Amino acid sequence: MARKKAVRTVITLECVECRERNYTTEKNRRNDTARIELNKYCSRCRTHRLHRETK
Ligand SMILES: [Zn+2]
Repeated sequence: MARKKAVRTVITLECVECRERNYTTEKNRRNDTARIELNKYCSRCRTHRLHRETK
């Protein structure tokens, strides 16, 4: 049986302001080699903040 290569990686997104980890997502290692940043709603800031991939 051929084994599938794990290209997708589970990552955590944290708010750049309060550092709350609000989201988890998957990214394609082949397409996104750098850290990704997404504008998402932060429940602690109660507004949209930039969320960055944690290490
Ligand atoms: Zn926040």
